[in-house]
Amino acid sequence: MFDIQKVRADFPILTQKVYGKPLVYFDNAATSQKPQIVLDAISKYYTEINANIHRGVHKLSQLATDAYEQSREKIRDHINAKEAYEVLFTAGTTHGVNLVANGFASILKPGDEILVSVLEHHSNIVPWQMLCEKTGAILKVIPMNLHGELIMDEYVKLLSEKTKIVTVNHISNALGVVNPIKFMIEKAHEVGAAVFIDGAQAVPHLKPDVRELDCDFYAFSGHKMLGPTGTGVLYGKEEWLEQLPPYQGGGEMIKEVTFEKTTYAGLPHKFEAGTPNIAGGIVLGTAVDYLNSVGFDNIQRYEHELLVYGTEKLLEIDGLKIFGTSKDKTSVISFNLDGVHPYDVGAITDKMGIAVRTGHHCAQPIMNFFGIPGTVRASFAFYNTKEEIDALVASVKKAQLMLA
Ligand SMILES: *Cc1c(COP(=O)(O)O)cnc(C)c1O
Repeated sequence: MFDIQKVRADFPILTQKVYGKPLVYFDNAATSQKPQIVLDAISKYYTEINANIHRGVHKLSQLATDAYEQSREKIRDHINAKEAYEVLFTAGTTHGVNLVANGFASILKPGDEILVSVLEHHSNIVPWQMLCEKTGAILKVIPMNLHGELIMDEYVKLLSEKTKIVTVNHISNALGVVNPIKFMIEKAHEVGAAVFIDGAQAVPHLKPDVRELDCDFYAFSGHKMLGPTGTGVLYGKEEWLEQLPPYQGGGEMIKEVTFEKTTYAGLPHKFEAGTPNIAGGIVLGTAVDYLNSVGFDNIQRYEHELLVYGTEKLLEIDGLKIFGTSKDKTSVISFNLDGVHPYDVGAITDKMGIAVRTGHHCAQPIMNFFGIPGTVRASFAFYNTKEEIDALVASVKKAQLMLA
């Protein structure tokens, strides 16, 4: 069963005081905290098996290679990819988007269309704009309604045989809204377009099944799912990864190099030039194990309780407005107080030991849509509590008294 005090004991940072107050960490959508088992695994790697992988015949190199490849296999199993070589280790979601957008430069022609949603993080917008500049392709935007839900009728109208790729996040980082990606993937495939899913905000809350979704690419970051920074995964269907050219040249990604011609290694090495974040890749597997040991059913049930509780309590505050009011949401509450700049709210809650995010959350088009400079975003993880939400509500009330 889910025992919140036992879970919290796994996260040493949570016992910290900030300005003499207990830390309340509600910035989980920016990065998650790390359990002791993950911290220990980093230390264990460097203490016991640190060596470069894939090339050494010596014992440590074999141990490190085995651990790295076992982690890849673990992640393959976790997301239900068909083959381990369809799971590429990256530095994070941003890296994954750039790898694919860069590869499509060799496929797209002037006038081809890329569909992106208005709900995207900048890292799932800018690489596609750069791709358009390079190729003459055209970027089209899937609009949303006032609840922060993508409008499916409009989406379907935008699709045509000109559409070559559709890119959308599984869950919005700014609003927490869950997008109907299964439907979107089906519709895109009907016109022959590939689909890229930005899963950065999904993987801390659910176990994606890439084969059931039938997406062509699925990218996420390790650091938002209890893993180290500078880690991530790009899943790609084998036929797409075979078709795309390498993103970076260097060691590890080659079969043979002469000055006349270089031939590339097979998957996944073709996309993994240079010495990777070996410790990070291994420890990401540890983070996945930990999440599975807590159980995604438990995580979802508990986080939903926090979402419902937090929404109810915050809405009791006069003049507080929540952005992102879809029924299908993860534990993210983005809000503003009437007549108060979000930054000022964040500065006051900070002094009370509460970490929230303020600003545009790397999603300026969403803020432009609502005509606001930004929001205050409280994003809950399964190690947060209702008492912490009470502390947030009290601090927001205090901010209102001081500022409104
Ligand atoms: C955080 C985030 C990204 C970028 O992830 P990095 O770890 O900074 O590369 C992209 N998309 C979404 C939805 C995110 O939440």
